[in-house]
Amino acid sequence: MAPLWGHREEADFGGTLLAADGPDDLVVLIDRDACIGAGDCAALAPRAFAIDANRKVRFVDPSLESRDRVWDAARRCPTDAILIERADGTALYP
Ligand code: SF4
Repeated sequence: MAPLWGHREEADFGGTLLAADGPDDLVVLIDRDACIGAGDCAALAPRAFAIDANRKVRFVDPSLESRDRVWDAARRCPTDAILIERADGTALYP
């Protein structure tokens, strides 16, 4: 499935939070305000993440990336700008 830009925005999170379907039944969220553009996520999971012209993370299509790579990208993000949830909204990471 294509990335769900604007699927969810949570102003009280302190930034713009975007969600997309991930591998299996995971939902992947990116907090673009927290992103510092280091690019680790795009290197680790290039089918899920890329860096835009403003040096902020954007979705490619996380549903096409392996579960392991998406988890690695989230764990390696220095600012926890990648979040993982179950489809029912249960937070899995961080
Ligand atoms: S690893 Fe984190 S901080 Fe670095 S580009 Fe990806 S989301 Fe942004």
